[in-house]
Amino acid sequence: MLLYNSLTHNREEFVPNTPGRVKMYTCGPTVYHYAHIGNLRTYIMEDILEKYLRYCGYQVTRVMNITDVGHLSSDADTGEDKMLKGARREHKTVMEIAKFYTDAFFRDCQKLNIKIPEIVEPATGCIPEFIHLVEVLLEKGYAYLAGGNVYFDTSKLKEYYVFNKHEAENLVVGAREGVEEDENKRNKTDFVLWFTKSKFEDQELKWDSPWGIGYPGWHIECSGISIKHFGEDLDIHCGGIDNAFPHHTNEIAQSEAYLGHKWCNYWFHVLHLNTNSGKMSKSKGEFLTVSLLEEKGYDPLVYRLFCLQSHYRRSLVFSWEALDNAAAAYKKLVARIAAVDENEGTLEESGIEHFRAEFHEALGNDVNTSLGITVLYDVLKSNLNGCTKTALIQEFDTVLSLGLIAAARRMREENARKEAEAEAVSPEDQFIVDAIAARTAAKKAKNYAEADRIRDELKAQGITLIDTPQGVKWSRD
Ligand code: AMP
Ligand code: ZN
Repeated sequence: MLLYNSLTHNREEFVPNTPGRVKMYTCGPTVYHYAHIGNLRTYIMEDILEKYLRYCGYQVTRVMNITDVGHLSSDADTGEDKMLKGARREHKTVMEIAKFYTDAFFRDCQKLNIKIPEIVEPATGCIPEFIHLVEVLLEKGYAYLAGGNVYFDTSKLKEYYVFNKHEAENLVVGAREGVEEDENKRNKTDFVLWFTKSKFEDQELKWDSPWGIGYPGWHIECSGISIKHFGEDLDIHCGGIDNAFPHHTNEIAQSEAYLGHKWCNYWFHVLHLNTNSGKMSKSKGEFLTVSLLEEKGYDPLVYRLFCLQSHYRRSLVFSWEALDNAAAAYKKLVARIAAVDENEGTLEESGIEHFRAEFHEALGNDVNTSLGITVLYDVLKSNLNGCTKTALIQEFDTVLSLGLIAAARRMREENARKEAEAEAVSPEDQFIVDAIAARTAAKKAKNYAEADRIRDELKAQGITLIDTPQGVKWSRD
């Protein structure tokens, strides 16, 4: 498959280190609040990538961290720990907040048909691994102690700005965030590996370390958790585009300094979902969550379709109007599938390969999901029988995960229920149905006099019979 790699700025043929196997790492949520639908766009697109790789036959192992400590209000190691902020807001402990929002995150994932990675690791569960990493970085001369904290020394690297070389100056930490410079840093771009309580007295979760009681920096989490589960290499690392700098840049710096060689081959970054007024926020304006979509009557899978209709490397603007369009598109697609007779014919193997190739052309070309959806329409428009169409849609939906077959079955049941309701006869009208049956029988026996008598009798009661190709209908005057 062709995959755009942020590291090389090119679409490349994806080749994992071990043939047939893929090691995939995902930056997980910071569980201080609900995820907004922007965060979830990133997880939806990563989910598609994972499922497509599986569809291609790869054995994928996916690891995700849960950030429950160390992510400060600014990605540049300043401000308060986001978890502590959440705990204050809700008068709970940090661990209570972490549990509550981790569960909420996975519930959202489930509603959006996002598969939960086989390995999910909270940062607070890996403190010894982080300490070990920091110790090695100090030993190797890549880190230093200042003001009680341990910092990574970016001047020791041949190249620090691995993603956006030309933007180096714009991206300098502090300048970007408009926050105060940390006086302990030797270089502007240095970052914290381990905080001690000398800097943050009020941090709730703290651990003993060779440098005093404290807690890990945010970036070391992902290096530590990836190396713990995957060892010295990684095929794909994913996250939202905001993670590229400084988070992923710092992850690469510390992982490669620790390992002494290249760490991860492909970097998959999802562009942001924005609102008309700009950046999506959890504190300002409308807080767009999956629950809010549901409260407003949207099926969460409509939001999934909304995301799949555009390419992950384009930023996307959310509006209720755009979501309404996605809802209409979802309904239309499901209605088209509902109109297919699943039991028509048997599987036509010969007709399948052409559409599989089309699907690979779409998803295998840097995860072109909107083209993938077009393939569904091509299947529906084709001359394949109902059984084959259904099988193909079900197969492609293992990747797209729009719940299409189930939704179509529900729609068929709903339509049948409505039809039956419309045709249902009330007990008071049962005599009409019986009279019609008697008249039909009389006609069949060529007893036309009797048939006319029944019709006239009904007419006298104000009931008119109409003969149609679909059978006899009746109406009241
Ligand atoms: P966080 O919980 O803040 O650590 O973010 C979780 C994931 O959501 C990260 O991969 C972020 O890069 C990503 N993310 C944050 N904001 C957006 C957005 N507006 N659109 C898409 N992804 C986002
Ligand atoms: Zn991360």
